[in-house]
Amino acid sequence: MRPEITVVRLGHRQQRDKRITSHLGLTARAMGASHFVLCGDDDEKVLDTLADVTETFGGQFTAEYQGKPLGYLRHFAKQGGQIVHLTMYGEDFESATPKIPTDAPIAVVVGGAKVPGEIYKLAKYNIAVGHQPHSEVAALALFMSELMGGVAGAEQFPGARLEVKPHPSGKVVIDHEEDSDTSQ
Ligand code: SAM
Repeated sequence: MRPEITVVRLGHRQQRDKRITSHLGLTARAMGASHFVLCGDDDEKVLDTLADVTETFGGQFTAEYQGKPLGYLRHFAKQGGQIVHLTMYGEDFESATPKIPTDAPIAVVVGGAKVPGEIYKLAKYNIAVGHQPHSEVAALALFMSELMGGVAGAEQFPGARLEVKPHPSGKVVIDHEEDSDTSQ
């Protein structure tokens, strides 16, 4: 069963993290998450980017800002959701991921600057993608691939205006509004 996933980005800094937080949201969407929660600085540009990409490339992905991530996560857990925190200090992802039940919503929390200690306790699973420090985008992609069994397929992005057709040597994009095929 494909679980319903919300990715929670803690500690966003508008100037320093604008590209990486957008990439994190885009990766969440491309890997099959349905919702993205931005915490830290409120940054409309990140939310707008995610909305624009979803409008163009389809799917039901939504994004919002939350000023109080701990309250949001406590509420999420009270409603029966499970919290997974990605951290280099956690359990190995290959052995820990199969233990996560997929029949309840899952919030995947990734850090930015300093992660509050309470997150480690709130999380039912603290999961490491290797035990070296690297990137939240890399950690999210590898963890979600393990959890979802790969990258989300085209069928998970209904209503797309632009649809990319795989091609070995060029760009093939179908524009469903123009009903045209742009090959290069
Ligand atoms: N200096 C920061 C700190 O105080 O934690 C490190 C931030 S790190 C670039 C940002 C986030 O990437 C972490 O909070 C974690 O969610 C994720 N991350 C980085 N390396 C990871 C790893 N090996 N396994 C799982 N998650 C990782």
